[in-house]
Order: sequence, then C-alpha cells, then structure tokens
Amino acid sequence: ASKTGGKMRCTWFNDEFDRKLEQSQKVERALRRAVAGNELQVLYQPLVDATTSEIVAVEALLRWAQDGVAVDPSAFIAVAEETGLINAIGSWVLRQACTDALAWDGLKLSVNVSPAQLRNADFPIQLGHILEETGFPPDRLELEITETYLVGDPVIVCRSLEMIRSFGVGVALDDFGTGYASIGFLRKFRFEKLKIDRSLIVEAADDEGSRAMMVSSIAVARAMNMFVTAEGVETAAQAALARTAGCDHLQGWLYYKAVTADEITRQLAKNAIRITGDHRHGHVAH
Ligand code: C2E
Ligand code: MG
Ligand code: MG
Ligand code: MG
Repeated sequence: ASKTGGKMRCTWFNDEFDRKLEQSQKVERALRRAVAGNELQVLYQPLVDATTSEIVAVEALLRWAQDGVAVDPSAFIAVAEETGLINAIGSWVLRQACTDALAWDGLKLSVNVSPAQLRNADFPIQLGHILEETGFPPDRLELEITETYLVGDPVIVCRSLEMIRSFGVGVALDDFGTGYASIGFLRKFRFEKLKIDRSLIVEAADDEGSRAMMVSSIAVARAMNMFVTAEGVETAAQAALARTAGCDHLQGWLYYKAVTADEITRQLAKNAIRITGDHRHGHVAH
C-alpha cells in the first residue's frame, strides 16, 4: 500500500508510526557511525562470591557514548536487534571481552547475547573463530541469554544451547523473575547459571510473595546444580537476603559498578582484587 493511501485511511496511526520509524532510523544511522568510528566500549562489572566477597567473575556491558553522552544500552540494543546490526556489534563485544579478559587469570567472563544473535545461523562459526583467535579458554566463558529467546521453538533453542556447550562454553539464564521464564525452563534447558533479576531482589525485601518466589527458585536451581547470581544488589539487606536464600554470587553497586578493562587490570595488579577459583562451597548435587 502506498504511504498516501495509508495516511488517508488512518492519519493518526501513520503519523505516530512514521515518527517512531524516523526516530529508530536516526538511532540506526548514528549507531552505524558509532560502530565505524569506535564509539562503542565494553565495561566490566565484577561479580563477587556471596561468602567471601572476592571477585569471581566479570560481566561485559556494552557502552555507547554519543558525542560524549551515554546512550541507554537497553534502548540502542533494541534498535541494533531490529536492524540486524546486533550481529556485528555482538561479535565485536565478544572478541573485545575475550581479548580483555584473557589476562584476568581465574576470573570467569559473562557476555550477553541477544535472541537475534543466537538465531543467526553464523553465530556458532563466529563464536568458534573468536575463541580460536583470542585463545580465550572456553570454560571461562559464559553466555547470558534472556527468557525471550526461550519462548521460541524448543528444538531450535536446545540445538543452539548444545552448540554453545559443545565449545565448552557455559550458558546463564539472565533476568529471571521478570517475565515468563518458569521453573520448567530450568529443567528443560539445564543452564549452568541462573541470574535473579534486580526487580525480584528489590521486591523480595518487602513482599512476602516475591520473597517466596525468589527463595524457592534459588532452591530449585541449586538442587539442579546451577550456580545462582543475585543481580543489582544495592543494599546490605538485599545482599543478606540473597545470601541466606542461597545465592552463590552477588552483583551490584553495593560491591562494584561497571568499570573499564584498564581499571580491572589495575586493581588486579594492585592485588586489590583477590582471585578465587570457581569453587562451589558446600554445594552438592542431590
Ligand atoms: P543485564 O544483562 O541484566 O545487565 C545488568 C544491568 O544491571 C546492567 O545495565 C548493569 O549496569 C545494571 N546494574 C548492575 N548493578 C546494578 C545495581 O546495583 N543497581 C542498578 N539499578 N542497576 C545495576 P546496563 O549496563 O544498562 O545494561 C542493560 C541491559 O542491556 C543488560 O541487562 C543487557 O540485557 C543489555 N546489554 C548490555 N550489554 C550488552 C551486550 O553486549 N549485548 C547484548 N545483547 N545486550 C547487552
Ligand atoms: Mg546480563
Ligand atoms: Mg541481567
Ligand atoms: Mg537484569
């Protein structure tokens, strides 16, 4: 249908639609320039052991400073997904993170991958290349996927998770407790790690129902031999609750914000960050 024809049928809808499209095309053009002009950066947020507070891992978080102003990742990643730019950006993040983290002996590295990346048939090939080129040990790498990916065809999902694991790379289910992901998903897909979303951590502090859900989800995940991380821990009370509920790792501003690779390296060199192995204290399979 022609644009004019559409406008005649429903003017308001099309104006609104055009405005959104224009905005997203503007972001897309700027994002293309950002990729070409090295405006993207990967920061790293440490995850600490719930018992010792020592750093055990880092999560790679993408940053884009447009003319010096930070753009919210959730917003520009959505545009990158819609436009397919996420494939180029995603493999850049993975390569950069594996290169940076190579020197951080003993620390695990988590990298977020979007559903659009996983659905790309070339993803396994890219992952293989990056591991080979960087020499990053696959067993130190973990990919964080979101539940929105899991609601797709379970056969395809299982196949791509198997593919990731065939490299020796782990899979974490990110943002658990925000939407549709159920306990059934944990059984079906057998993740190496479950990450409890910040919203559930916050709500659990003063809502009994949320607390029950958090505590029981963590218990189930642990019984299935998964590691559990509490995300977005900002207060000592939240940390205590997460620890009591059985979280292995804590991540949040109470401990560390995301910092540059140089900052991680600097702290490691100063030995301000003490590295521990990937042990699972008192965590036995039932
Ligand atoms: P996420 O994977 O759940 O990452 C955790 C988010 O929580 C990060 O937001 C982090 O900065 C924030 N956070 C950590 N601790 C705290 C805290 O104590 N309080 C609060 N309020 N927030 C905390 P960020 O960096 O804005 O990233 C947002 C989302 O964008 C990520 O959520 C992830 O889904 C996505 N993302 C980030 N980097 C990448 C990437 O390289 N690739 C893909 N596909 N997605 C990415
Ligand atoms: Mg994540
Ligand atoms: Mg998360
Ligand atoms: Mg989250």
